[in-house]
Amino acid sequence: MKRTVWQRACLVVIVLCLLTLPSTIAYADDTSFSKADIYIDDKPLNTPYTLRNEHLMVPFLFLKNTGLKVDWDKRNRAAMFSYGNLLIALPEGKPYFEAYDKRTNSWKKHPLAAPAEELDGVTFVPLLEVAQIFGMKFSYDAKQTRTSITTNIKPAAPPILKGNTERKLVALTFDDGPDEQYTPIILDILKEKKVPATFFVLGKQVELLPDMTKRIVKEGHCIANHSWNHAKLPDVTSSELVEEIVSTQKEIRKTTGVLTNLFRPPYGALAKSDALLVQQMGMKNVLWSVDTLDWSGLSAEDILAIVRREITPGGIILQHNFHSKEQRLDGSVEALPIIIDELQEQGYQFVTIETMLGPEHPAR
Ligand SMILES: [Zn+2]
Repeated sequence: MKRTVWQRACLVVIVLCLLTLPSTIAYADDTSFSKADIYIDDKPLNTPYTLRNEHLMVPFLFLKNTGLKVDWDKRNRAAMFSYGNLLIALPEGKPYFEAYDKRTNSWKKHPLAAPAEELDGVTFVPLLEVAQIFGMKFSYDAKQTRTSITTNIKPAAPPILKGNTERKLVALTFDDGPDEQYTPIILDILKEKKVPATFFVLGKQVELLPDMTKRIVKEGHCIANHSWNHAKLPDVTSSELVEEIVSTQKEIRKTTGVLTNLFRPPYGALAKSDALLVQQMGMKNVLWSVDTLDWSGLSAEDILAIVRREITPGGIILQHNFHSKEQRLDGSVEALPIIIDELQEQGYQFVTIETMLGPEHPAR
């Protein structure tokens, strides 16, 4: 009975992939692979792909977009996928996957039509076969040449972009520090203006500059987690993502005594299972509503124009405090006291993210 189901499933996969191929080919500049949009719970996600035995193969980390946790077993060279009680491994080059049985603490092999395969240093896996193992449904719309997967995995709460919009509160946030060049200047300005801010720090910078980190907290600012190494989190395994966050939590706590529950992913980027992991770790995913684009070297005048145009009650302003050779944040630092003066004249009150999201100012 089981085999019949599998054979039928494989046939469907083959037919779908044959149908998908001709009209979705597009050549990417950065890889030799074709790219296509796969619709996951109605959201288009672009991925490199290739075909093996007429199966749609994608980089194994792409499966994080379905909500599965994805890891890499170095010793066995196997891609690992898990959700709920189900954990499976796809060893490279093997025509089977192994499923972990908790009760017997053992692994059981099942046939796999398209083995995991390393291509250009990346492990590709059969997308629809893995999705099906986790009970996801997939379909193909020939008219729109669209491959769709319905996961039935509930996504994490949406990221926080702003606070309560009925109060004229605003939060300044500074990412990627602390550093030795801009952080002290920013702290001096904030001290002079008596305004609190929130610093989303990198664990490696906290380790490098513990005294600067302590100064941030001592002067009444909020400190929050921005990962250890500024990794682009959708491109790392689930275990590596957890390590980025946990190691930074430990470093912040060791240095300042603060245990934060605020996290901002580098580039604001999280795959579906990343966001679920962040939530399970009890962290809030905090983004922004006003992006000053200060890192790109904008002038103070350009930055002020963005803030004036985009600020609204409950606004969260994104700036940075990490030096570079080009000293690109000069404009940002120059704009800071003017942003503070202008917004205060308009009746805004500056608060930390912690205060903005706290019980006194519930978001509606
Ligand atoms: Zn950053």
